[in-house]
Amino acid sequence: MAIYSCPHCERVFSHRASLRNHVKTHDDIIDKVLREIAEEVEHEQEEDVNYEGEGEGEDKGEGSDNDE
Ligand SMILES: [Zn+2]
Repeated sequence: MAIYSCPHCERVFSHRASLRNHVKTHDDIIDKVLREIAEEVEHEQEEDVNYEGEGEGEDKGEGSDNDE
């Protein structure tokens, strides 16, 4: 009798459909992690351009730089 074991964790299933269904949950997580990593890299590349001024200018900075 065949046992299908998950390559991502230690769970085993007696039906391939069950395993496939279960592996999907890992795929979602992996996909999400990969996407987050990709976004982080994008942010890091943007950081050079966009680093200063974001958020800080709203709270303070009025009057320090803006002289009218
Ligand atoms: Zn698993």
